[in-house]
Amino acid sequence: TYRLEQKRNITGAFPGPKSVELSARRVAAVATGVASSLPVYVADADGGVIVDVDGNSLIDLGSGIAVTSVGASNAKVAAAVAAQAARFTHTCFMVTPYEGYVELAEKLAEITPGDHAKKAVFFNSGSEAVENAIKVARVATGRTAVVAFDHAYHGRTNLTMGLTAKAAPYKRGFGPLAPEIYRMPMSYPFREENPNISGKEAAERAILAMEKQIGGDQIAAIIIEPIQGEGGFIVPAEGFLPRIAEWAKEQGIVFVADEVQAGFCRSGAWFASDIEGIVPDIITVAKGIAGGMPLSGIVGRAELLDSVHPGGLGGTYGGNPVAVAAALETIKFMEEQDLSARAREIEAQFFSRMTALASEVKVIGDIRGRGAMVAIELVKAGGTEPDADITKKIAADCLAEGVLILTCGTYGNVIRLLPPLVISDELLADAFEVLEAAVRKNA
Ligand code: PMP
Repeated sequence: TYRLEQKRNITGAFPGPKSVELSARRVAAVATGVASSLPVYVADADGGVIVDVDGNSLIDLGSGIAVTSVGASNAKVAAAVAAQAARFTHTCFMVTPYEGYVELAEKLAEITPGDHAKKAVFFNSGSEAVENAIKVARVATGRTAVVAFDHAYHGRTNLTMGLTAKAAPYKRGFGPLAPEIYRMPMSYPFREENPNISGKEAAERAILAMEKQIGGDQIAAIIIEPIQGEGGFIVPAEGFLPRIAEWAKEQGIVFVADEVQAGFCRSGAWFASDIEGIVPDIITVAKGIAGGMPLSGIVGRAELLDSVHPGGLGGTYGGNPVAVAAALETIKFMEEQDLSARAREIEAQFFSRMTALASEVKVIGDIRGRGAMVAIELVKAGGTEPDADITKKIAADCLAEGVLILTCGTYGNVIRLLPPLVISDELLADAFEVLEAAVRKNA
């Protein structure tokens, strides 16, 4: 059913010279401050393959950073987009509301954790969703302090870059940063000084740090990615998130789960919060929600969202009708195809192959993740010292062999896999083979 997969033909020497030249020249001529990390100039893309302007095919393990879970040209989503665009492209929901927005809010209330009364507001990017979740928490609590964690990534706008942990490239030179942001120690099982520390103990450590820095009764919101994305696909130890959520409740703090990257079947469930057994007060959504159309939102307890005065949230394009139509169709497709189950299959294949590889080479420090959000952390042979150089080399070798792989991590030493959930087993197996060879070559 997937057009590009069917005519897939990895031509060997990738990327071709024309693509490299074009990419470098055209991008540098017009774009600035936007690091384009790969010498690839795209002509076409689908559920697992990107084709460049020279006709080279590239297996896509990035999904445009966790966005095109249903494929980059899903026929059903494309049809829904076309149909809505033919009816009307925009009216501004704040001026003249329309049905799709309401339907999507209802759907999100149904599929997000918890059966309390919920409301939703829509925006355009993940950063805006995070900004608005914090705005809601501040109005609802009358408090100002916001807590984020080590290794967190929440965006590049003023408030969200402050919540983001890593200085470069996200914060350096862009100050002043937003005030009233506090940072707490994360649970990072592979890098714990005490390898036996439990999730609950790691949570108590974070709570103690919060009490020392600011005091729970001063905090409006705690925001956390249930699986950290850009920070290195860090899965906290079992029990960490439930204890943090419980403490937030005790202190009257709004608990916000940033599911921008992990949400919408990516982690093997609708939301990573489902797997962790937590019921956040507010969830931020974006990326995978709309098959590549720019759409984000917050879904949360009705009484919290209702505390905001009319006109305080929103924006001209928030919940654009075309993007909303794409989201409704994307969610329907995810349900029909059971893409959560598919993500869990991808997880099983990844762990079975990478566990074997890790027993063979000494540069794999950790293998982790959930669903189709999985990673390997690379270290200097046999130890724990991060190795960003080998990580870059592995990613470059994969690209040269026709597999697009992204890196991430506070130390730049994590290879992360975010394939479209509709990728075929055959493409996935080919990609794993290329990755394994690249790791062995550089080990
Ligand atoms: N939160 C998380 C967890 C993310 O992964 C991202 C994007 N990588 C964002 C927020 C920001 O989203 P956007 O780039 O759409 O603003």
